[in-house]
Amino acid sequence: MDVGFVGLGQMGTGMAARLVDADHAVAVWNRDAAKAAPLVGRGARQAVSPAEATKGGIVITMLANDAALEAVTEGEGGILAAGEGILHISCSTVSVALTERLEAAHRAKGQRFVSAPVLGRPDAAAAGLLSIMVGGAEEDIARCQPLFEAMGQKLLRMGDKPAAAIAAKLAANFSIATIIEMLSEAFRIAGAHGVEATRMVELFVETNFGSRMIGNYGPMIAEQRFEPAGFPLRLGRKDVGLALDAAGDADVAIARLLAARMDAIIAAGGGERDWSSLGQPVV
Ligand code: NAP
Repeated sequence: MDVGFVGLGQMGTGMAARLVDADHAVAVWNRDAAKAAPLVGRGARQAVSPAEATKGGIVITMLANDAALEAVTEGEGGILAAGEGILHISCSTVSVALTERLEAAHRAKGQRFVSAPVLGRPDAAAAGLLSIMVGGAEEDIARCQPLFEAMGQKLLRMGDKPAAAIAAKLAANFSIATIIEMLSEAFRIAGAHGVEATRMVELFVETNFGSRMIGNYGPMIAEQRFEPAGFPLRLGRKDVGLALDAAGDADVAIARLLAARMDAIIAAGGGERDWSSLGQPVV
């Protein structure tokens, strides 16, 4: 397929490379153009703007946050300027409010919009092992199936509204944050009586607690392996904040507690460490 890819950060680079390697014709654009060079070396074409990256009719975005997605969609040379009929697949973790606003803006321009946020870290993106939550019209999702297959191992349909997929992603990331906090506190409780954290990892992995999430994060926390960050705590704080916004009036006490803890870590200079450090005392 002919597809554009906008946003070549830690995640986007791996996802775009998967598309190139699956023999799709990929046009890439990134704010810092230098980051496109390795993909161009692999066979991608460098687009001159996000709008121009839509030339093939479909564009995927993978950007840091709301401000970045707004810039490449609504800014000069942005995707909304691309003309009728194009389909925008938004993979960034952004707010429900922006997702709803962009759905309406694309509709007003005769364009299509699908939300497809992902679960999985940069290594999973590079290996095509992401889980992709999708929200949007059935025919748009079906049209993009070969692209989803190149980037992910699992496609989870959350509903026909883009907002459903982003809300599911925010709820999932909140759940990961609670697992990190739970593991960190459990290691401290057992550690106060001489139990090594690595023994607790074995206990969790080898009993009914066993889950891939605990298997991934447990050793990182036990060994205090927080750098280099696959997912920096500052982005995790963004997601917990977006989950709080998405919750509205719902009672989400743990999310509030996690947000306060993350704020304290960021204020102490820990925002660039991996978010698996969120349960650590601030030093
Ligand atoms: P990243 O490495 O920090 O990359 C961010 C990307 O956004 C870069 O391409 C950056 O461009 C671009 N960007 C930032 N501000 C911009 C602006 N104002 N205008 C245009 N472009 C802008 O982040 P990432 O780890 O790839 O994450 C991308 C998204 O995936 C985030 O929403 C994150 O929450 C989500 N996510 C991340 C992970 C993970 O483990 N890392 C997992 C799942 C989902 P420059 O290169 O020019 O700075």
